[in-house]
Amino acid sequence: MRKKEKVIIRKAHDYSPEIIKEIIQQGLEDFGLSSQIKGRITIKPNVVMAHPKIAPSAFTRAEFLDGLIDALTDGKNTSSKIVIAEKSGAGLPTARMFRHAGYPTLKKKHRIKLLPIEESRKATVSLQKGEVHTKITTAREIVDNDFLVYAPKLKSNVLSQGLSAAIKLNVGLLLDKERLWNHNHNLDKKIVDLLEVGYPDFIATDAVEICTGGNQLTQHGRHLGIILMATNPLAHDVVCAHIFHLDPKKIQHLSIAHDRGYGPLSLDDIEIEGDITLEEIQQKTKGLDLGMIRVDEADCNIRTIIGEPYCTGGCHGIFLDWLYMFKDRKPKLWKNMPDWTVVIGQHSGDVSASRLMVIGTCSKINGKVEARKRRKIRGCPPTHKKLVLLFFLKTGILNPLFRLDTTIDAYFFLFVSWLRRLVKGRL
Ligand code: SF4
Repeated sequence: MRKKEKVIIRKAHDYSPEIIKEIIQQGLEDFGLSSQIKGRITIKPNVVMAHPKIAPSAFTRAEFLDGLIDALTDGKNTSSKIVIAEKSGAGLPTARMFRHAGYPTLKKKHRIKLLPIEESRKATVSLQKGEVHTKITTAREIVDNDFLVYAPKLKSNVLSQGLSAAIKLNVGLLLDKERLWNHNHNLDKKIVDLLEVGYPDFIATDAVEICTGGNQLTQHGRHLGIILMATNPLAHDVVCAHIFHLDPKKIQHLSIAHDRGYGPLSLDDIEIEGDITLEEIQQKTKGLDLGMIRVDEADCNIRTIIGEPYCTGGCHGIFLDWLYMFKDRKPKLWKNMPDWTVVIGQHSGDVSASRLMVIGTCSKINGKVEARKRRKIRGCPPTHKKLVLLFFLKTGILNPLFRLDTTIDAYFFLFVSWLRRLVKGRL
């Protein structure tokens, strides 16, 4: 009989680092990994963005990492070299996001290094199975280590059919240019390509507070009170999909990973252990809004017309994500935005609108256009940062992310990060 992949789910009512340490230490023992934890240890969390006001929940919490590091070191000073490596969202300086996430406090307690991947020494790896990427460049510490730990945040994401867990975490291995390349209808294949480099030895997931229902950066947190542990990222993500009442077969990056032989797609091939059942968790997540709609179904007064291709991971998904920032952080404006009509993709038919915005390099209207104002934002896809800025400049709509402090982070501190890389010869 084929051996089942194991996923452990444990209750963790709050972010007490002591409890988290105990749970993860037990998990490491149960997976028979305790003796392998030595040498160069790399931890990859999710810090796509952190901000005390507008992105307070969508990242792996510092207290969780505190407990995780204690579990890896047994709370002692070991000779192991522990690095926390991450690349935050496109155009965001990771060092600043680490600061907003409270990670510098971890340095006071543990002998660790915080490593923004863009500022690291790099390694380029050729991929054998890649369909979008034939090679990727990331931090040496991701490629060359003795023990690789993934510490994702369990959250919903409209760019990846509702789920962001262990496999999706790999997008944060890439530098901005490579990250945005084929971040369109090919996103799911791209994510799976990265498993060849980003394949963890152990996964411990922060689902004490999950994050759902809106924009992947700004959505609100809600208590779930669990930690998931696994060694197979696909088995782990399949269980996460069921926690969100999603069918793993309909989550493209999971089904592609299964087809490429990375693991099971069915719960029949997964053994779930722990002190809480999947059914008990599903009771808690029943009726959870994951925000999974097509962008033209968004219930706000910007009208969106969609054309081909529909890029869930590209312009269509990113514009929905942009709209959700209002739902999350400026809910009054969500229903009261100026009446723009937005066209994304290649649309066949006439369009009549007072104000018209076309998003995406490939997007165009094959028909008659009547509009008082016409604007276009290019990119395949444009980044969140570009959409926030250009929407303001071209339409006057002020996205919740458009603030003085976020602007300083996204431009001044990005420049500071670039300077550090220049001085260290790591451009
Ligand atoms: S430019 Fe076209 S192909 Fe590229 S992400 Fe946008 S809609 Fe998709």
